[in-house]
Amino acid sequence: MMPSLAAHIALLKSQAEAGVDFRPRAGALCPACGQTAKITATRPWDGDTRIRYHRCQTPGCILASLNQSIKSVQVDR
Ligand SMILES: [Zn+2]
Repeated sequence: MMPSLAAHIALLKSQAEAGVDFRPRAGALCPACGQTAKITATRPWDGDTRIRYHRCQTPGCILASLNQSIKSVQVDR
């Protein structure tokens, strides 16, 4: 049985808020559409981790249409 759309959206939002991996070359990928999400804010390094915030700008993407902020975590300099 397919999960409901509401449950699917809730899962994507929770992934965006929990944080995705940030990779120096690829950047952060939107958990919904898999495209590179645009950086909107970059925090300073805190120890060995750096937090960034992104927004997906892919047309038709659920998280883009929700204007959902996507958090990313970079763990290696
Ligand atoms: Zn997206």
